[in-house]
Amino acid sequence: MAAASGHAEKKLSHQPFFALFPVKQILAGSLWGPVMQVPSHPTQIRRMLTSRLKQLTPTGPVLAASLSEVHKRCGQPSCACHRDGPLHLAHHLTLKVDGKTRTIYVPQDMLDEVRSWVTEYQRLKAVTHEITQLALALVRGHVADRKRRQGRS
Ligand SMILES: [Zn+2]
Repeated sequence: MAAASGHAEKKLSHQPFFALFPVKQILAGSLWGPVMQVPSHPTQIRRMLTSRLKQLTPTGPVLAASLSEVHKRCGQPSCACHRDGPLHLAHHLTLKVDGKTRTIYVPQDMLDEVRSWVTEYQRLKAVTHEITQLALALVRGHVADRKRRQGRS
């Protein structure tokens, strides 16, 4: 039985999805970082901004999607997965294109690479989120900061 399922495993990438079972999302495309501690002094805020801006360069391809694992049946009727045997583990990407959710199958031999691209997207998104919070803090604190400086002179 092990040899038979191993054979089916190899053919997996050429087979259409026969059945999709509950999806487990392993890398979310919409993950935001936690709310950060923003200092009150503009000089400190700008210093933090400078360091975040340096982190904004991608270290490789960026893939703005969610990576999920699915358990599916293959297209080979003789395979154990069509009876009571275990289903095959596969991965797919979900993303929105023109407001519609698209699902794209990830070939097994591309999985590590694709995972790193999604991880890179999450990192950039988290950095962008921090930059946004710092930039907002500068906007919000600007009037108070100007008054403080005028009061000092
Ligand atoms: Zn199968």
